[in-house]
Amino acid sequence: MPNLVSLNSQTMSEFLPYQLLSEEDLSAVSELLQFPRKVVITTHHKPDADALGSSLALTLYLQKKGHQVQVVTPSDYPPFLNWMPGQKQVLAYEKDKPSAHLRQFFLDADLIFCLDFNSLSRIHDLGSWIEESPAVRVMIDHHLQPDSFARFNVWDSRAAATAELIFDFITLLGDHSLIDVPIGECIYAGLVTDTGSFRHPSTTRTVHLIVADLLRIGVNPSKIHKLIYDNNNLNRLRFLGFVLKDKLEVLPDFHTAYIAISREEIKEYQVDTGDTEGIVNYALSLKGVVMGVVAIDRKEHVKLSFRSVGDFDVNTFARQYFEGGGHKNASGGKSDTDLEGTVERLFEALNENKNKLAQAYELYFNNTLN
Ligand code: 5GP
Ligand code: MN
Repeated sequence: MPNLVSLNSQTMSEFLPYQLLSEEDLSAVSELLQFPRKVVITTHHKPDADALGSSLALTLYLQKKGHQVQVVTPSDYPPFLNWMPGQKQVLAYEKDKPSAHLRQFFLDADLIFCLDFNSLSRIHDLGSWIEESPAVRVMIDHHLQPDSFARFNVWDSRAAATAELIFDFITLLGDHSLIDVPIGECIYAGLVTDTGSFRHPSTTRTVHLIVADLLRIGVNPSKIHKLIYDNNNLNRLRFLGFVLKDKLEVLPDFHTAYIAISREEIKEYQVDTGDTEGIVNYALSLKGVVMGVVAIDRKEHVKLSFRSVGDFDVNTFARQYFEGGGHKNASGGKSDTDLEGTVERLFEALNENKNKLAQAYELYFNNTLN
């Protein structure tokens, strides 16, 4: 059993199975962080536990190193994340509220970290603030097909979560021993949610090694699990009941199940940020279903979530039909038509992908599960 406390090169390579940064880039980043810097950390719209957890883990680490750090999110985030260490420091951009002070953080920054997203188009107005800022940009992310907008890219789509890359980044900088319980809790939150509680294929041995290391320093997994998953309000459960009973549609010809939620339904059940998270997994949990889809009519546009099993690639699907992207088995997108038009578009897309869905079904359900 390797001694995880003092990392030697053998354990180091167990945590870091792939090279995240070239030697030159690592030295350049280390050098930049030699002196106290003004840092802005941002992440994607409607941050989830990985987005916020990664941002806060990096914040707490950089603050320990003496940097001045401000997290700015492009929108609010779900209330079940408001236990996270450091979250009180987060400033959330809201479209119709004054934002000059937020923009100033970007203009004044020496460094801007972009976490858990890889295209400036995913962060709305904050994208243009990053473009106009003279700050050095660092992207830390695990989504497919990144845009190139950063000087440094700590990117690997094999990472289960951006939080895994934050653990790696801190370790690469030689500061593994600075990972304490608050930082560890934020990293754990990202790992547990992005791996679907350690059940998606992204759950590698490395993930478990990192988790073991976090438990070693005193992170309590059961506490975090409860804070994230057992924090429902009654409305949310009633809404879930309604969705499963009345809204879940199964399309056996396409091995697909979808849920389309209207603006009125959102209003009726007082659905809040984060309340719809995870609903798409119910569609995918049906036997024989290769792809689960949820379409929700939000104010700005219809937001879509896609999940798949096996070979059906929902990153490509979301990119091709719904201006989106993500991972092979989990992605999102949007549509600027109304809900009805979006469902029509979904049907067209399903028709065009009928063969691929059938092949993925055969491979997954007839080979994998027998
Ligand atoms: P969710 O369905 O939970 O919103 O998102 C699933 C995955 O796809 C997440 O990793 C998320 O970051 C990514 N994703 C969601 N919406 C979009 C989008 O509009 N564009 C891109 N590129 N990725 C998205
Ligand atoms: Mn993530």
